[in-house]
Amino acid sequence: MSDLRALYQEVIAEHNKNPRNFRWMEDANRMAVGVNPLCGDKLTVYMKVDEQGIVRDVSFEGSGCAISVSSASIMTQMLKGKKVEEAERLFNAFHEAVTKDDPQSDLEALGKIAVLAGVRAYPSRVKCATLSWHTMHAALEGEEWVSTE
Ligand code: ZN
Repeated sequence: MSDLRALYQEVIAEHNKNPRNFRWMEDANRMAVGVNPLCGDKLTVYMKVDEQGIVRDVSFEGSGCAISVSSASIMTQMLKGKKVEEAERLFNAFHEAVTKDDPQSDLEALGKIAVLAGVRAYPSRVKCATLSWHTMHAALEGEEWVSTE
C-alpha cells in the first residue's frame, strides 16, 4: 500500500511539473470549461473528434492544483485515438473508482489513470481528480461549461 501511495505522489508530481498536451487547440470541434470552486481549479478541455467518432486530438489549459492538472494530463494521453464511446466508458469507470464505496471497475481496466484512483483516500480531492473528466464529458455532450458544485 505504501508503494502505491508513493507511486501516486510521484505520478502527480511528475505530470504537474510537465503536463502533457497542455495547449490551446485552434481547430477543436469540442470544447468545455470546467471549474471546481472548492479548490479553485479551472481547466479548459479541447477535443477534435472526426466523423467516425474518434478522438483525433485532445488538449487542455488553465490552472489548478497538482491533482487536477496531473489527472487532466493523463486523461489527454489516454484519450487520443480512442472512440468517443471508449472515452465515456473510461470516464464512468474512473468516476466510479474514486466515488463509490465498493467500486466495481477493476483498476486494470482504468489503464494509466488507475494510479489516480488513490485519491479515494482523500475525499476532499476527488473533485480535483475528476474535474477534467467531467469537462471532457461535458464537451462531448455539447455543454460548454461545467462546475463540480
Ligand atoms: Zn484541486
